[in-house]
Amino acid sequence: MDFDAFFAEKLTALREEGNYRIFADLERRKGAFPRATRHGADGRQEVTVWCSNDYLGMGQHPKVLDAMREALERCGAGAGGTRNISGTNHYHVLLEQELADLHAKEAALLFTSGYVSNWAALGTLASRLPNCAVFSDALNHASMIEGIRHSKAERHIFKHNDVEDLERKLASVDPARPKLVAFESVYSMDGDIAPIAEICDLAERYGAMTYLDEVHAVGLYGPRGGGVAEREGLMHRLTVIEGTLGKAFGVMGGYIAASAALCDFIRSFASGFIFTTALPPAIAAGARASLRHLKESQEERRRHRAAVDKVRHKLAVLGIPTLDNPSHIVPVMIGDPVKCKRISDWLMEVHGIYVQPINYPTVPKGTERLRITPSPVHGDKEIDHLIEALSEIWSQCALSRHAEVA
Ligand SMILES: *Cc1c(COP(=O)(O)O)cnc(C)c1O
Repeated sequence: MDFDAFFAEKLTALREEGNYRIFADLERRKGAFPRATRHGADGRQEVTVWCSNDYLGMGQHPKVLDAMREALERCGAGAGGTRNISGTNHYHVLLEQELADLHAKEAALLFTSGYVSNWAALGTLASRLPNCAVFSDALNHASMIEGIRHSKAERHIFKHNDVEDLERKLASVDPARPKLVAFESVYSMDGDIAPIAEICDLAERYGAMTYLDEVHAVGLYGPRGGGVAEREGLMHRLTVIEGTLGKAFGVMGGYIAASAALCDFIRSFASGFIFTTALPPAIAAGARASLRHLKESQEERRRHRAAVDKVRHKLAVLGIPTLDNPSHIVPVMIGDPVKCKRISDWLMEVHGIYVQPINYPTVPKGTERLRITPSPVHGDKEIDHLIEALSEIWSQCALSRHAEVA
C-alpha cells in the first residue's frame, strides 16, 4: 500500500469539506497577553488572541511565574520518572493537598492533563467496578468518551442535560448493578450548564456514583474558584470532581478530587496514572500558586464576567447572532464550515484578530461558529476593535443579523 497517498487523499477530502485544520503559529507575549506575535508565511504579525482557554490570563500572572522559576531553580527541569519510579516530587504532594481543599474532598490525584485524568479515571472506574453501567451525557468531551469506551463497560448515552432521559435510562438497569453518571458542568462549545443538583438527586435515588468534569469552570466559578458545584453548594454531593490546570489556572495538568479511597484506587490501578512521567515540579508549583491566588482573589473573576458581559452586550446591540448561555463562552454562530474559516482568516489577516473557527467534528455540522472567550486581560480597546471588525464583516458578507438565537 502507498501509505502517504492514502493519507494525502484523506486530507484532500477534509480540505474540500472545509474541515482541514490549520494552526496559528503564535508566540504569546508575557505581560502583554492577549497580544501575541504570529509567525506567518509572509513574516511576523502582531495579533490579539480571542479564543484562548487561559480564561483569566493566569498564564502570565507574576505569582505563577515566580513560583515556577523558584521550583525550576530548586528542582531542575523534569520530575525524573513516573510517580511510582522516583517521580513523586514534594510539589506534586502540595498541589494535591491544595486541590483536595479546593473541592472540599479528602484527596486529589494529579495527571499529566485533563484528558488523561478523564481517560484514566473513567476507564479504571468503569472497568473495575463489577458489571458497571455508565450513563454519559451526549455532549461529553472526547476524553470522557474515550475513557468510557476503553473500559468496555455498558454505556447509556442520555440526551444532553436531559434529566428525564437520564432517569429513564437509570430505571432501565438492574438496581443492584453499580452505576456511574458522567457529565460536565460548563459545556465548552455551547457554554450551557448542567442541572447538577437534579442529576445528583437522580444519582442518589438510583445509587449511582457521579463524575463531574469541571474543566471549563474551575478557577472561574464559586467563591474560591471551585467551579459551578462550589457556586451551587453541591461539591459534597459529587463522588468525583475532575478538572484541568491548563485552562483558567493557566498552566498544565489534570486531576480528580474525591474520597481518599477512590483516589488511592485510581492511583493503584489506573494505567494512565502509573505508567507515565509525572509533571515537571515547576509546573506543579505554578499551578499551585495559581490555585492559591484564585482561592483568595475575586478580582480576576469579577473582571472576567465584566468583559464577557460587555462583549455579549455589544454583539447583541449589533444583532450579531450569539448562542445565549449562562456562562463565559460567547459562541458567534456562522453555520457553514467554509464561511466560518473564511471569516476567521479575514479577521486574522485584515484585523490581527485571532479567533479559531470551530468546525466539525468539534461541533455538529451546520453549527460552525467562532468561539470567543473574553478575559480580564481584554481591555475596552481590544473589545471595541473586535466588535468593529465583526460588524464590518457582517455587513460585507451580508450575514444575517438578528436577536440571540436559542
Ligand atoms: C480541554 C478539556 C479537557 C482536557 O483537559 P486538558 O487539560 O486540556 O487535557 C477535558 N474536558 C473538557 C470538557 C475539556 O474541554
